[in-house]
Amino acid sequence: MAKLEIKNLHVTVDTEQGTKEILKGVDLVINSGESHAIMGPNGSGKSTLAYTIAGHPKYTVTQGEILLDGEDVLEMSVDERARAGLFLAMQYPVEIPGVSVSNFLRTAKTAIDGEAPALRTWIKDVKGAMDNLKMDSTFTERNVNEGFSGGEKKRHEILQMELLKPKFAVLDETDSGLDVDALKIVSEGVNRAKESNEFGLLLITHYTRILKYIKPDFVHVFVAGKIAEQGGAELADRLEAEGYDRYVLA
Ligand code: ADP
Ligand code: MG
Ligand code: MG
Repeated sequence: MAKLEIKNLHVTVDTEQGTKEILKGVDLVINSGESHAIMGPNGSGKSTLAYTIAGHPKYTVTQGEILLDGEDVLEMSVDERARAGLFLAMQYPVEIPGVSVSNFLRTAKTAIDGEAPALRTWIKDVKGAMDNLKMDSTFTERNVNEGFSGGEKKRHEILQMELLKPKFAVLDETDSGLDVDALKIVSEGVNRAKESNEFGLLLITHYTRILKYIKPDFVHVFVAGKIAEQGGAELADRLEAEGYDRYVLA
């Protein structure tokens, strides 16, 4: 059992207009095996939460803490966070010239496990995960994110997640820009990873449609930098019907 705790998190970002507080006291506990969805209007700070967990240098924590099994995540470098078992899909969104998907995955796996994976099982694991995600085998020879379509980027994220076997995964808007077929394949990948590897999921989304495929145990409505309401999967159904107006106008 692992536990990710976010306590009274306040985060600022420096903008041209000065320092702006974006997160205003976020409290959230995720245990391994649980799926949490964070839903909220655009601009409410959802990605800021994801970037802060990832350790993005643009975001300054002014109050509060993030603990992974009691360890201070905010003291960890980005690499240390990955080794501690945090998977943040937006961690490597950039193109990495000259680095193939195959090398990238193996390097990441080696860094996280502290040793290189045994070649035979690794090749089998990669192939199995790619087949599941309906990815062509030539994909591994391409350079990371170079010319990837939106759908390929998402599949690559889920492929990493399946192979790296994190304790906690944060997926930010994994559903945006996916057609229904790709959404299903990506969701199945998340569900498979969850079954084979008891991990905690933080799924950030603006829309409810991905929640038809990935059933959250908890739904948190995020408004103006904090959680405004929490509930179970039924809360997502209500948001689908009513939207965010009642929160934004309140
Ligand atoms: P969401 O993901 O919910 O749409 P974001 O976390 O992306 O929200 O943004 C929340 C607010 O913080 C927005 O007003 C956005 O303009 C601002 N913000 C976020 N990141 C930055 C940044 N790096 N520089 C300036 N403003 C930012
Ligand atoms: Mg506070
Ligand atoms: Mg966002």
